[in-house]
Amino acid sequence: MKLTPDFEGRRRKLVRKLRGAGLDALIVSAESNVRYLTGFTGDSTWLLVSRKQVTLISDTRYETQLADECPDVPAVIRDAGSTMNASVAKVAKSQSLHQIGFEADHVTVSQLRAMELSLTSVSLIPTTDLVEQLRQIKDKWELDQIRQAIQMAERGISVVRSSLRPDQTEKQIRYLLEEAMRGFGADGPAFEPIVGVGPTGALPHAHAGDLTVSESPALLIDWGATTPSGYRSDLTRCFFTGRPTKKMQSVYELVLAAQEAAIRAIAPGVTCSEVDAVARGMIADGGYGRYFGHGLGHGFGLDIHESVRLSPISDQVLAPGMVVTVEPGIYLAGRFGIRIEDDILVTRNGYEILTSVPKDFESAIVDYLA
Ligand code: ZN
Ligand code: ZN
Repeated sequence: MKLTPDFEGRRRKLVRKLRGAGLDALIVSAESNVRYLTGFTGDSTWLLVSRKQVTLISDTRYETQLADECPDVPAVIRDAGSTMNASVAKVAKSQSLHQIGFEADHVTVSQLRAMELSLTSVSLIPTTDLVEQLRQIKDKWELDQIRQAIQMAERGISVVRSSLRPDQTEKQIRYLLEEAMRGFGADGPAFEPIVGVGPTGALPHAHAGDLTVSESPALLIDWGATTPSGYRSDLTRCFFTGRPTKKMQSVYELVLAAQEAAIRAIAPGVTCSEVDAVARGMIADGGYGRYFGHGLGHGFGLDIHESVRLSPISDQVLAPGMVVTVEPGIYLAGRFGIRIEDDILVTRNGYEILTSVPKDFESAIVDYLA
């Protein structure tokens, strides 16, 4: 059976949520939420979802693309002389909508002021995470897309790993990786790949720079691919391109043990903070607690960071169909950083590790360079 995205089913679920929240309609303005609900890949387009109807509100630049990508959703195409809000006001009036929600996390203060000026006869209600909550649980089609994004990323890294050279710079590796993933069908990287030699790898969100592979035995790469359908993957591996020091080995093995233990803790009904605590506790016991400053992981899909968050302060509860990263790290400023990141699907009975790049210490050593 060929899998297809069920946009209509997603919109039906959203309407149920609107009823629950006492809203007549919701203005969906976040690009990836509009995409999730309609398949539309452009920008500057809002979706007004009411209990009766859905309406895309866009401008003439997107008329053809809208008809092409989401022919089943009626679109209001405004001309250059009218604003988005004026179009929303017209639709609201024609459907007698009164309580209209907007996405508080995706509207700027100026946009809200303009909305309030144009939509004088309705109550504008701030909402958070209505669509994001639906997006937490991936359907079959989405999981298939994520698996493809992982495959593109894994093929890409195997090209990079086998062509590592002592004189390569971080930037050169980054560009090679992006090109390799595109060659395997990716629309592009899921985010700007982090390629960090030695001290660069100790910066959790470093930009690839001009250090060469030969400048440290430790190399950290955090990367992912985006499929043409917009779904992403997110992995991190460390490679030893020279003889690793004893310290590098012990830190690597601690991070790996913490990561694997946290993955084993994943199951439906477990809270995100519990999973985070497993890795954080082991790293603290190993004496590196203050060198692991970020959350353990995050959901991803159409965006690289989505709900849920695996962090010490997240009381979100894991459920089947969620896909999260597990990525503990230890960062020793000025020296090196170790992070290991895999993509995990929460299943009915526990979890499935979707990523498969080897990660035991021996496979992290690039033999022909070490
Ligand atoms: Zn990552
Ligand atoms: Zn990540």
